[in-house]
Amino acid sequence: MIGGGIAGAATALYLARDGVRVTLVEGAVIGGGASGANAGSLHAQIPHDPFRNLGAAWAGAFQPVVTLLARSLGMWRELEADLGCDLEIAFGGGVMVGATPAECDEIAAKAEIERAAGLDITLLGRNALRDAAPYLAETALGGAFCAIEGKANPMRVAPAYAAAARAAGVTIVAGQGPAAIARTGQGYAVTTGERVIDADRLVIAAGGATGGLAAQLGADLAITSTPIQVCVTEPAEPFVPHLVYCAGEKLSLKQSRVGSILIGGGWDARLDDRGRPVVDAANLSANLRVAMRIVPGIAGLNLVRSWAALVNGTDDWLPIIGELPQAPGAFINYVPWLGFSGGPAAARITADLVLGKPPSLDVPLASFAPKATLNAG
Ligand SMILES: Cc1cc2nc3c(=O)[nH]c(=O)nc-3n(C[C@H](O)[C@H](O)[C@H](O)COP(=O)(O)OP(=O)(O)OC[C@H]3O[C@@H](n4cnc5c(N)ncnc54)[C@H](O)[C@@H]3O)c2cc1C
Repeated sequence: MIGGGIAGAATALYLARDGVRVTLVEGAVIGGGASGANAGSLHAQIPHDPFRNLGAAWAGAFQPVVTLLARSLGMWRELEADLGCDLEIAFGGGVMVGATPAECDEIAAKAEIERAAGLDITLLGRNALRDAAPYLAETALGGAFCAIEGKANPMRVAPAYAAAARAAGVTIVAGQGPAAIARTGQGYAVTTGERVIDADRLVIAAGGATGGLAAQLGADLAITSTPIQVCVTEPAEPFVPHLVYCAGEKLSLKQSRVGSILIGGGWDARLDDRGRPVVDAANLSANLRVAMRIVPGIAGLNLVRSWAALVNGTDDWLPIIGELPQAPGAFINYVPWLGFSGGPAAARITADLVLGKPPSLDVPLASFAPKATLNAG
């Protein structure tokens, strides 16, 4: 197993529980990638931004991801009990807000596609929205409510999975820098620092670095890695129980258990001259302006922290989950953009595929299978 984010740590746990001897290789720190730096939203709705930009045909192709996310949120409901720790999970539901009639029409069209994927979405008119979410601005005209959505504390989740994996017998080798992989007669050799670990089967769950590792096995995965940013306010009295989005502009907003408001929505950060993600001040201001327009009650709060990290993506927003056709015995577990929400289900499915048994979750997987494209090298 390569990668100690939610994808790798969760897959390692599920494999170990099913009796597989697993070594998890993390080049840096468990949870030190996107899994520990994300905004902690537990999504199921189709994100509005790509729906608007890529259209209804794209949203139709995205339906299997909605099913994956819904199954995953089912696992999130049990996760604290399963891992035996507090992950600050709460399910207040998600509210997508429309501020114009055109936005409300888009929300309604998107809801049809979400319902066809089995998601329960309630459309709200102006008054119902005000009753459900009185903290929203007067300009909120209507919206959609998805009851299964929620939030968790990302800093706790990958470490909790890794601790459970260790307790289930997984060997964790971390902090030796990026591992390299090569084929051997029987399987794969993973080199990490001074160590070489031989394995019959390999799972690459390395977030944005997954493409580079797959390329070492001759596979060309169309994977992107983009810097985005999030910020958080000082704590306030609880007044936002929902995960809040808006259709017109990029926004995700939620209140954590300690009362601070996390504000994001996929705003671009930038890379510094050493290639490290850093916050873009202009985008931070723009993100805050949107947030204050939708939830005016945050205007008096001080911002205490903002941060940037690389998010793993694909252009079509589809996960890549399954065995590499070019490299039998090597599997990919890669959920782009929403990999925190989708992490538990993707890991359970990946473990099932490695074990060669039918997936224990009912998710249409065909469009997630790695393609048989060879890379030029
Ligand atoms: C700012 C931000 C906000 C986000 N908000 C949300 C959100 O609210 N909800 C949501 O669902 N998703 C969100 N995401 C996306 C989500 O965080 C990611 O999709 C998810 O965490 C990916 O998990 P992962 O385990 O695949 O990758 P990562 O968490 O990136 O883990 C990959 C691990 O692999 C290790 N690694 C890489 N290469 C090697 C190598 N060669 N050898 C050994 N180890 C290696 C890395 O060090 C890293 O620890 C957000 C992402 C960002 C950046």
